[in-house]
Amino acid sequence: MSNLTFAIIKPDAVKNNYTGKIYDHILSKKFEILSAKLIKMTKKQAEGFYEIHSDKPFFGELTSFMSSGKCMVLALKKNNAVSEWRNVIGATNPSEADEGTIRKLYANSLGENAVHGSDSDENAKKEIAFFFSDSELILNA
Ligand code: UDP
Ligand code: MG
Repeated sequence: MSNLTFAIIKPDAVKNNYTGKIYDHILSKKFEILSAKLIKMTKKQAEGFYEIHSDKPFFGELTSFMSSGKCMVLALKKNNAVSEWRNVIGATNPSEADEGTIRKLYANSLGENAVHGSDSDENAKKEIAFFFSDSELILNA
């Protein structure tokens, strides 16, 4: 599974009409999109997805934000997908993100930072399975 990662175009970026621009980053960096869908998470779903952060002070704010509007969830494939995607998105805090990264270009705050990326192969696998059934992942096309 080391060639897979999971991405979210977060509600701020969808609202601000950056979905197409972010898709261009995905495609120009040669990620293959195995699956993508537009969803609106419930608060409970957001809490489940970010369970790893449930003890953090920003958990309530984060899960409210993530369930506040539409977002696009994606399963992406590329060699070293996890680290490659994290390079494309940039640092968590947009003010610390490198020039040209998605968060530098399209995010305005630490909380509302345009995109998600998995932090390990193990979590990528879990996160893809959280949102996609096997039949939704187009593996051999
Ligand atoms: N976050 C926040 N305040 C913080 C740290 C993180 O609101 O002090 C939010 C932010 O949206 C971030 C998400 O929580 O993307 C998950 O945090 P993590 O440290 O896993 O950052 P990421 O992996 O998304 O770069
Ligand atoms: Mg993280």
